Amino acid sequence: MLGDRNYKQVIKNTIDSISKETEPQIDTNDTKTIHLHEAVRCLRRSYYDRTDPVEPERTSFSNLVSGLLRKMQYGSKLGEYAIDDIKLKGQADIIVDDVVMIFRSATSPPEIPFSSDVLYLNACLWIFNKIDGIIVYISGDGKEVSFSFAKEKKMFEETIRRVRVLNNLLGEKKVPILEPSEECSSCQYYERCYLKQKMGRGINIQDLFGLKKSD
Ligand code: SF4
Repeated sequence: MLGDRNYKQVIKNTIDSISKETEPQIDTNDTKTIHLHEAVRCLRRSYYDRTDPVEPERTSFSNLVSGLLRKMQYGSKLGEYAIDDIKLKGQADIIVDDVVMIFRSATSPPEIPFSSDVLYLNACLWIFNKIDGIIVYISGDGKEVSFSFAKEKKMFEETIRRVRVLNNLLGEKKVPILEPSEECSSCQYYERCYLKQKMGRGINIQDLFGLKKSD
């Protein structure tokens, strides 16, 4: 018996602590080093994470799988790829028999993989000079689905473009444009991106009802 202790808070604190331990450590002042996960997800979110961060809501143990695998170094590998004077750093969860594997959590097993995960895996194939990779999704109820991919050049060029854009905008202190996607619904910057804009825009009652201004 733990008396009146708030179990939800205990679980939340545990998930928060493990997440912080296992997430890649970023030197926010080093704009010449871009981490792969920053480049493949919404660039605006990555920008805010470096310049004016808000803690994300971490709710599930299943989200920790990838981080724990990397931390335990059970076949995990950290690598770098030079893009002119920028270092792109990426980490594969497991490399076994020359196959790169990354693990992701999902509320239910997806029918197709998320584009950010495909970009991440493909970039790992270039960073580690491998041909084949697998994305494994694990859902909260223990179901699992996997997708295999072969290295693709055009897709990696898109990742390189995104790395350069993030590097430039961080250097120029310019906020990246909105990248509306499913990611927004669970993003800690949702209000900053959408609600502020909505509230900040003055509503013209004549526009609202399609009335013309009288001279
Ligand atoms: S709310 Fe959407 S557009 Fe805004 S930072 Fe988050 S993911 Fe990006």
